Amino acid sequence: MVGAGPGDPGLITVTGRDLLCRADAVVFDALANPALMALAPASARRLDVGKRARKHKLTQDQTNQLLLDLAREGLTVVRLKGGDPYLFGRGAEECAFLTRHGVRCEVVPGVTAGIAAPATAGIPVTHRKTASTVTIVTGHEDPTKGRTSVDYGGLAALIRTGGTACFYMGVGRLPAIAAELTAQGLSADTPAAAVQWGTLPNQRQVGGTLATLPEAIVAAGLGAPAIIVVGAVAALDEPGLDFFTDRPLFGVRVLVTRTRHQASGLSERLLSAGAQVIEAPTLELVPPADWQAVDTALDRLAQPRAAGGAYDWLVLTSINAVDTLADRLDELGHDARVLAGVRVAVVGQATAQALRTRLAVRADLLPERFTAASLADEMAQKGGLKGKHCLLLRADIARPGLPAALADAGAVVDQVVAYDTRPPEALDPQALEALRGGAVDWITFTSSSTVRNLHALLGDEASLLNGVKTASIGPATTETAAALGLGPTVEAPVATLDALVQALADGQPPVVPATEQAV
Ligand code: SAH
Repeated sequence: MVGAGPGDPGLITVTGRDLLCRADAVVFDALANPALMALAPASARRLDVGKRARKHKLTQDQTNQLLLDLAREGLTVVRLKGGDPYLFGRGAEECAFLTRHGVRCEVVPGVTAGIAAPATAGIPVTHRKTASTVTIVTGHEDPTKGRTSVDYGGLAALIRTGGTACFYMGVGRLPAIAAELTAQGLSADTPAAAVQWGTLPNQRQVGGTLATLPEAIVAAGLGAPAIIVVGAVAALDEPGLDFFTDRPLFGVRVLVTRTRHQASGLSERLLSAGAQVIEAPTLELVPPADWQAVDTALDRLAQPRAAGGAYDWLVLTSINAVDTLADRLDELGHDARVLAGVRVAVVGQATAQALRTRLAVRADLLPERFTAASLADEMAQKGGLKGKHCLLLRADIARPGLPAALADAGAVVDQVVAYDTRPPEALDPQALEALRGGAVDWITFTSSSTVRNLHALLGDEASLLNGVKTASIGPATTETAAALGLGPTVEAPVATLDALVQALADGQPPVVPATEQAV
């Protein structure tokens, strides 16, 4: 029974993650972040029993039975629940049922929404000067109908003396809850706040008082899932509390067009700057139709020069080229030693890092700036190029500038296709939905092909791109975007992901801090 944490997938515990990584089956709820499913082995069964699941939501009895059946198959089952499993999650009931039927059940506590969502909304639930108690309350029961097990008199007394109350499942019933607390003697001016989708990039919040919050929530269009915080802490305004919403890209929606495999580096950077990331892969990498050309080149790399083999330079311009190199060397029964007498030039820090990780080889040359001409220049400075044999492992769609520049400098160039690229069959449905709904502020392009493919994938609907701001990795990509009428565009001053994210952040008009909007 694993707590998934409040929303942000990073807030699962280490134990919870370890268990997910070796689960045979994962049974998950609506509020457990689906991104966590990626941690489970590909072979694991994934079963959605969530309340928001479109078709049939399982009853509690059916869920219990499902867990039991899976366990009786001898599987390691992770029951993944939003927040903490014991907190309004029926975790104890499920455990008791399983235990009664002879199945051992362990609980991995989780970070609960009632504490985490206020935290990322700038509200510490206790505070040495202000609040010494925090009460976790269900807002599910209607206090005005006399059918509640919550002691509202006691609760009002705690809040009056500075305590904090965190209501779960309470947005719909807030008017009734506020009325009851006021009836129990709490001032209508008591600070209160609501936080929807806490800890997530789409978090929204409003603040006010017991008197004003119900209307403010309606006006802002907030709904479930939300935590309602009542108490003095909801009005705290101390430096540093807004660490979550003051990030440069908070509230900004960015479409990322790289391959699924490559997107993660860029997505991570955007997410940590606070952005909402929508991944729309526009490129798929596939192995070449056959390995003949690559294998012949690698065999030649492995031969001593006297036997007609050996290259002077190996040029790797992407992580994918490094991956292909490492995989094929292994497949052919070679290893990193074939590179012993060869100089290696790479483009990009990430490529250099991949070379170290995959083959324990350090690049001899990593040019500061990547243009075909400057790479050729630097290679020429490091030992000359005249008559030197260069092997380039590249994509099928790689631009011809680099081999041309090397040949101009007198090198003998073998360019071999290490991987093919192709557009996916269709655009990711969520990305399409976001574009249609005008819910995209920026699009990032990391190569000309990402621009062309996105444009082509949209077909008749390419006009959806009109006016969306674009962030480009470099001049060639910017040019392609401009040619297709996209923009306005900001461009990374150097071709790195960090520079791209920085350029995007610099191009983003400052947003009004969320707390100012709220109160
Ligand atoms: N076991 C969960 C709570 C389950 S009850 C936990 O410990 O967090 C479901 C309620 O949790 C929702 O109605 C909402 O009040 C709250 N909740 C869950 N995730 C939330 C989030 N990301 N932001 C705000 N509230 C959330």
